[in-house]
Parts: sequence; structure tokens; C-alpha cells
Amino acid sequence: MRVAVMEGVNGRIHSATAQDPEPEGDEIVIRQNLTGICYRDVLTHEGFFPRAKFPLVPGHEVSGTVAKIGPSVRKFKVGDRVASLIYIPCGKCSYCRSGKENLCPNKQTLGETIQGSYAEMVKVPERCVVRVPQAVPEELATISACVTGMVYHALSVTGQLMPGESVLVTGAGGGVGAHAVQIAKALGATVFAYTSSRWKEEKLHQMGVDYVLTSEEFDREIKGLTSGGVDLALDTVGLPTFSRSLRSLKFGGRLVAIGNVQPVPVELPLGLIILKGNRIEGSISSTRSDMKKALELSAKGEIKPVISQKVDLDHVEEAYSMIKEKGNLGRILIKLDS
Ligand SMILES: [Zn+2]
Ligand SMILES: [Zn+2]
Repeated sequence: MRVAVMEGVNGRIHSATAQDPEPEGDEIVIRQNLTGICYRDVLTHEGFFPRAKFPLVPGHEVSGTVAKIGPSVRKFKVGDRVASLIYIPCGKCSYCRSGKENLCPNKQTLGETIQGSYAEMVKVPERCVVRVPQAVPEELATISACVTGMVYHALSVTGQLMPGESVLVTGAGGGVGAHAVQIAKALGATVFAYTSSRWKEEKLHQMGVDYVLTSEEFDREIKGLTSGGVDLALDTVGLPTFSRSLRSLKFGGRLVAIGNVQPVPVELPLGLIILKGNRIEGSISSTRSDMKKALELSAKGEIKPVISQKVDLDHVEEAYSMIKEKGNLGRILIKLDS
């Protein structure tokens, strides 16, 4: 099969031929048409994931049809339409047994500690896989674990978002943000979207965003538009927006952090958090339950795919440059069946 290989930290990324995976035990081989490019892949390339084993097939966004199954697979058959978690949970720890497999301390991550998704076929155990309803567009199946399921987890499970509340989404024009604003709307929120790229403003309005903010001082704008701030800030960026996201919260508001584009510590004004009773929480990835919820919203048409472009396995480096320069509106996907 064809794959893309990352040679090392800041090394070449090129297409190559690899052996087709063969399933054993409870493993499923998924044949893919598409996979997503995630900021995490860019950070892996830059050396921010020290557990990464090179040369590596990067990527972790897996979907497609079941091509082969191991002898002990019970719930899926060849031809089923499926998507996978971005990691392999151990299936045995207390987190895994209570449906919080995203917190499994023993998990292996695709495209980091094990071979990833920039490949025509990917092998994962049955416990990673969910069924994809027919009405879900292929692009939304691809990003159901890392984008839409992850955002659903951040807003609904971690952030406890309730209908009628207000939500700020930073990095709203990026691959995560462009879907986060739609999910926040689908969950009944009033949505404030911050993007540093003015040219993305119109498109964000078309996605149903109530207020698009492009000023770097978006916290001040929010104060002017609300009584005291938003209920929930979903910070998809990290250092460049974290401090203002925090200042956008109302009393008792909460910030959910899911992005870390510049992996260095941020300043934490304790006085502000204490006096306003704010909460800051990290949210990691998605569970199969989150993926199912995101796929339901996708099947109902409440989330539309926002895809910047599709590249082939020979143009991954160019796609990484575009993501770093914020030239994309929405997710960049890799087309694998070309
Ligand atoms: Zn991802
Ligand atoms: Zn576990």
C-alpha cells in the first residue's frame, strides 16, 4: 500500500510503499479514501512529541470501510463503514472500563508511538472502532474522532455546555475552529468566533456564527457585546489567545483548553481566576461515545464539512506550510485513493 513517511524531526515527508497490514485477533484493517492533517502532526514533525518513533507514518484520523478482520472480531464485518479513535486504549484500566478511554494512561497514539493514518490501510483493534451512518459525508467521517468528536467532548462533556449559554471559539477559521462553531450552535449556544485572519470573516458568518471578532483585543469586544463575558471559552489556539480567552469569561465562566500551537507555558493570573471564580480545564481527544454523538450531528446535517483542500501523499510538506501560515480555512485532507 501507499503511505507517507516522516523521516525524523524536521526531516523529509515523502510517499513510499509499505506492506499491507494483516489483522490478528480482534484487529480490523480499514481501507481509507481520506485522512486528515492535524496541527498535532505538524508539532510531531517539529519535535514536540518526544515519544514519536521515526521513521514514522504520521497522522491519526482514520475512517473508511472494513477491508479485513481478525478471527475474534465480533461486531464488525468486511464492508462496514467505520471510523476509529486516534489512539488505542488498553481496554483494561479503570478509565477504559468506565467509558473514559480518552484518559487511558496506557494508550498508544497513532502517528506517534505506532504507525499512523497517512496510509491507504490502517490496522486497529475492534475497541477503537465505531460505525458511521450512511448519511454522514465522507469528510465528516474522517474527522469524527479528532475534530468533531474531540470538540463535542470539550464543549459538552468537559465544558458542560447548556443550551442558551454563550461560547467563544478562538482560532475559528482553522480545521478545529470551523467545526467547533457549528457544534456550539448545534448545542444551542450563542457563538462568538475569533479569527486573526480577516478574510475568513464572511465564511464564519455563513456557518452561523453570531459574532465574528477579528480584533486582537477580542476580550474587550466581548465585554461590549455581553453582560460581563461569555459562559465558556473554547481555546483552540494556546499561547497567542489564552490570556484574552480567560479575560473574555464572565463570573463563574469556564475555559476549556484544546490547542497548544506554541508549546510553551502561558501566564496564569491567579487573582483574576480566584476573584471571578473561573475554571480552566484541559480536554483530551474523544471517546467512542463522543464520536457517535458527533456522527449523529453530522448525519442530521447540523455539522457541514469545512475542507480547505485535498492533497495527495506527495504534497504533505506543502500542506504543513499552509497550516503554519494559516492559509487554510478548515481542514486539509489527504486523498489516498488517487
Ligand atoms: Zn488530530
Ligand atoms: Zn486503559
